[in-house]
Parts: sequence; structure tokens; C-alpha cells
Amino acid sequence: MRKTRITGAFAGVAIAAIALTGCNSGSPTSPGAAGGGEEESTGALWEVASDVSLEGSPTFDAISERDKVIVGVKEDQPGLGFLDATTNERTGFDVDIARWIAASLGYDEDKIEYKAIASANREQAIVNGDVDYYVGTYSINDARKQQIDFAGPYFITGQGLLVAADSEIASEEDLNADTRVCSATGSTPIQNIKANYPEVPTEEFDLYSACVDALINGTVDAVTTDQAILIGYAAQYPDDIKVVGEPFSEERYGVGLAKGDDALRAHINELLTDGGDVWQGIFDKNLGESGITVEQPAVDAY
Ligand code: GLU
Repeated sequence: MRKTRITGAFAGVAIAAIALTGCNSGSPTSPGAAGGGEEESTGALWEVASDVSLEGSPTFDAISERDKVIVGVKEDQPGLGFLDATTNERTGFDVDIARWIAASLGYDEDKIEYKAIASANREQAIVNGDVDYYVGTYSINDARKQQIDFAGPYFITGQGLLVAADSEIASEEDLNADTRVCSATGSTPIQNIKANYPEVPTEEFDLYSACVDALINGTVDAVTTDQAILIGYAAQYPDDIKVVGEPFSEERYGVGLAKGDDALRAHINELLTDGGDVWQGIFDKNLGESGITVEQPAVDAY
């Protein structure tokens, strides 16, 4: 396992940080286990595979049948999974990971349908077959693994706190009965607060962006979720809100997929393992200036 470090610092340190983290292995492009030829798409970080076959994958069979990939994502998390309402453009580290996987299966952007699924609804969406796979700040854990499988991890972060710029809350140790903390329903951070900080009043919304609005309006005192997510919000409103403290959990992001689809899981794990340079390109493009310093984690093929 390579070492992972997250800092809440901002762009000033980003360039040096990137220089220190550029040590992933792997080839620049990798269509993964599916084999077949490749055709180049212009200026892309990855290539779209052709003549792909993935024997024994019910998900891939469904994709081939409809000739389209349906991907579950977030769309209110800048830098990770974001939909620009004006341009209709989707951006972010997770969205690009989802696109790279689609390309490895032979599907370019015009053959991807995105579905925004909130944290609480992810397992059900995968179980129902509403999405072929899900890439959206989705922590691998045992409770979720009872219903679905994960490829990865492809990113590691940790729970943090976002507070008003003039707040005296400096870390999770300052949370108490008078600090109202907001997070998303069904997320690991809200579960952590309820289990380990039971005296702290909580507020829940489907989306973290609703928590950020509540923080800016002063109806809550802190937003808690993964630092990588919070850093994206802080960058949107640098005069109003700030990330404080050190990460106080480990969140290992996986690609959620149908339980038992071992062929698809192995394919994505192989793509991630062999595609270190693509991963780094996706990271640099989306998070390179965020101040986040993180290396690609080793895939844990459980
Ligand atoms: N990574 C955490 C989770 O999966 C928090 C982020 C999210 O809700 O997507 O619950």
C-alpha cells in the first residue's frame, strides 16, 4: 500500500506536492482485461477500446445489449463529480474515472448516460440495475459489501470539517452539544458522528451542497464529510468557509458494481492497477491545483 497524505492547504503547495507524488507505475493507457484493438480519441488521457468482450459479466452483457453505459455519479461536488448547469458539462476526478472505465469497455462519451444518485440511494440503484457502475466518493465498507461489490480503491481521503471562515471550531475535538453538524443521509461521516459524538446535534440532507448552503446561512455550524469533497466547496467560497483540522477517518473510494460480477470487478481492478499514468493524468487535471496531495492507492482485490 502506498502512503497517502491529505492536506487542507491550498494551491500554493500544489505544484510541489504533485512533483512529490508522481511515482505511480503502469502504462499510459490500458484497455484492461478485455483485449481487442484500440482507436485513439484526440487529446484524451485514455483510449477507447474496441472489440471488447468480457465473458461472464452480466453487467457487460446488459451494456452491450443496449449499446450504452449507464454510470452513477454525483453532480454537486466540485473537483470530484460536478455538473455545470450553464454549460451542461460534467467535470471531476470521479467523472473522469467513470469515463476511463467506460472507454476500457469500448464506450466513448456519446455512449455514456449519467445518473446522479445521492449517497443514501447508491446500493439500491446498483442492486436494481439502474446503473452499471457507480463512481462518486463511495467508501468501501463491509455493510455496503453485503449488497454490492467494489473495485478499487482508487482514492483515499478522510473525514474532515468545513466551518465558517470566522468559526472557532478548529477540529472535531471542538464539536459539542452546541455545534450543529450537517452531512448527507446514508453517508459514512454522518454515521461516524452519530456513533462517536452522540452529544452533537446533527442535520441531514440528501446532498452536501444543501449542507454548504446551511453553513453559509448560519443554520448549521459545520459540514462534515470527506476532506476531498470539502476542499472543493471551500474553493468555491473562499471568503466564507474553510476546512479545519486533520482527517479523522479513512475513506477508501471504490467503484460500486453489482454483487457477484467478478468479471467486471477484475476488469476494473486491472485497469486501475495497470493504468497508473492515466490515474495521475486524471488526478492532475481535476485535483492538481486543489492542494490535495494523494498518491494512487494499491488495488485491494478482496
Ligand atoms: N465517502 C463517504 C461515503 O461514502 C462520504 C461521501 C459520500 O457520501 O459520498 O459515505
